[in-house]
Amino acid sequence: MLRLAEALLAVGVLVAAPATARAWCQQTTHDDDSCFPDPGTPLLWEGNCLQYSIYQAGSDDLPLDAVRDVMGRSFGAWSQASRDGASPCTYISFSETDLATCDAVEYRSEGGNMNLVVFRESGWQAIRNHAAASMGLTTVLFDPKDGQILSADMELNGEFFTFTVDPANADADLQNTATHEAGHVIGLAHTPVVEATMYGTSTSGETSKATLHEDDIDAVCTMYPIEEDPGECLYPPGGLDPACTPVDDGCGCRTPGDSRGGARAIVLLVAFAIGFARRRL
Ligand SMILES: [Zn+2]
Repeated sequence: MLRLAEALLAVGVLVAAPATARAWCQQTTHDDDSCFPDPGTPLLWEGNCLQYSIYQAGSDDLPLDAVRDVMGRSFGAWSQASRDGASPCTYISFSETDLATCDAVEYRSEGGNMNLVVFRESGWQAIRNHAAASMGLTTVLFDPKDGQILSADMELNGEFFTFTVDPANADADLQNTATHEAGHVIGLAHTPVVEATMYGTSTSGETSKATLHEDDIDAVCTMYPIEEDPGECLYPPGGLDPACTPVDDGCGCRTPGDSRGGARAIVLLVAFAIGFARRRL
């Protein structure tokens, strides 16, 4: 395992909205909850596409096909962001991989990686920094030298919430939560704009976060503007590996992430939960 220097962001802390147009907040390498611009480097993915891997157990509340459909629409909301209502203004895109067969939130400096989506149906509070009121939590791991995001893992609180897909009968609407968490995956922090997808709290039955607000659209299209498409789809560092395949160095003496004999990568981690009075996203 990598030794992780943890830069935890305080959960649900909001800043006052500036008077100018920009309100959205980008995650940075600076280890507090302030928004960019701040002393840190803004976090970004390098390529123009991301792969996400849904853990094979799915959700106790929903059929796997429904989960896959909702995740596709949740990530798709960001890739289809449009300022004119017609053409996308961002180059970022997403694709689902084979189901994940391991559910570790991690980044491995040796071996492959993936961006995990997992429902935690038990033991939620035993996981670090997981409050019962948090509906979802996304952990972003990045290179502190340049702010490049290396991995982002989305955990959904199936233990304390029953996720639904019917907006007419929504308690914890999965798409509402997942679209918000997908915003964290691409490097967004919480915005002070109450109506936006990236606002840090949610109410029972809420579905509005499934549709991006202009603040969210401005965010993704400023961070990943279509006119600056890098034109390259990068796979996770070390290659895509939804199975967390153990690293074999030929003698069975090395465990994944153990960079014995080599430079140890330093990876920082930020974790976001969303929240409101009683539930966080
Ligand atoms: Zn959040």
